[in-house]
Amino acid sequence: MIEDNDFITSCEVPGPSKENIRAILLYKSMVSSNDIVVDIGCGTGGITVEFAKKAKKVISIDKNPEAIKLTKKNLEKFNIKNVELIENDGLTGLNNIENIDIAIVGGSGNQLDEILKKVDSKLNSNGRIFITAILLDTKLEAIDYLKNLGYNPKIVEVNISNGRVLDRGVMMISENPIGIISAKKR
Ligand code: SAH
Repeated sequence: MIEDNDFITSCEVPGPSKENIRAILLYKSMVSSNDIVVDIGCGTGGITVEFAKKAKKVISIDKNPEAIKLTKKNLEKFNIKNVELIENDGLTGLNNIENIDIAIVGGSGNQLDEILKKVDSKLNSNGRIFITAILLDTKLEAIDYLKNLGYNPKIVEVNISNGRVLDRGVMMISENPIGIISAKKR
């Protein structure tokens, strides 16, 4: 795993997704070297970099030009070559993509419903969808939208605390809870 501090960051762009969240996504997705992955809302590129090391190809979309620039810097830093970057909103960015094996939605603004519909129309059988959500509303919406598309969605709420080792003992410091909503195409 790459540590959070190893990524180049910017105050204008959120991310990277925290190390333990990246680890859970990598494991749950069972990403392999045949997979085409789409990272919608790639931010700093934390998830893009991790998946690109295991997948055939990652296509990363972000509407914020700064996020695309930053993801590019991180791809260079980690010497990753199998990523295509699309500077656009998720919905438009998905238009030219076919055959998705794994879709990760890390940012969707108010487009989540439409993005999931479009992802579904391009998702291969056995394809997997993951949404990482901070807002309670997004977690519930993601479940609802996936149900409407005929999926059987799951949600796990990830509450992680990291230990800070001090002279007088170990202090645990909690991260924001993140919801991971997932579904698999049958
Ligand atoms: N997983 C990323 C962090 C994602 S932050 C990492 O590891 O670094 C969420 C990102 O989603 C932001 O960069 C934001 O610009 C982007 N975003 C939000 N709504 C979007 C949309 N509708 N289309 C494309 N990108 C979007």
